[in-house]
Amino acid sequence: MPGVDFSYVDTWLFDLDNTLYPPSSGYILAIEARIQDYFVRLTGLSPDEAWAVQKRYLDAYGSAAPGLIEHHDADPHDFLRDVHDVPLDLLTPDPALRLALQRLPGRRLVFTNGSEWHAERVLERLGIADLFDEVFHTEAAGLIAKPDPRAFDALIAAHAVTPASTAFFEDRAVNLAPAAALGMTTVLVGEHAAASTEPFVQHRTDALTDFLNAAQVKDPG
Ligand SMILES: [Mg+2]
Repeated sequence: MPGVDFSYVDTWLFDLDNTLYPPSSGYILAIEARIQDYFVRLTGLSPDEAWAVQKRYLDAYGSAAPGLIEHHDADPHDFLRDVHDVPLDLLTPDPALRLALQRLPGRRLVFTNGSEWHAERVLERLGIADLFDEVFHTEAAGLIAKPDPRAFDALIAAHAVTPASTAFFEDRAVNLAPAAALGMTTVLVGEHAAASTEPFVQHRTDALTDFLNAAQVKDPG
């Protein structure tokens, strides 16, 4: 099957977690376990009830950190440091992804609801940190998270992103809605992608590296 025509794309925007590494790594599960522990300590609720609280914040704000600011006397920076402190050995360097990213002409950016520290250490571990021009992390967004449109506005302003020539790769479909509304090209990544029917999902792949390798891209000239 021929790859998609991305010859008009000059800005390659990637979510980090479960997009640039797979859910099968267990990395996100490890973070979620720490989030649950954090909310148990914070609220005194049972693990199930505490998880339900953070899930409400995730659904309402895109991330737990804004919920902490809104509803608790808790330091979101302490939260971010705590929950992202999981062993990197769950992740493996990905030289095939590295080659696929290297081939892309133009700017490569990361757009994550995770913290700066988290993004830096994960990208280093994957062996791709040097390939990204910018990492737009949650501190840079003022702790406003995808899919809040204000997070997208902040990204665009900070890095002079032109949506019409930007492709955004992301594993959470809901985060692609504001991107599509702004005029970005959207790619849903993950095993669930093929089954998605949302109108704002323009492309789908369960194999990011293969998808990138097959894409027609601008001649670097
Ligand atoms: Mg993700």
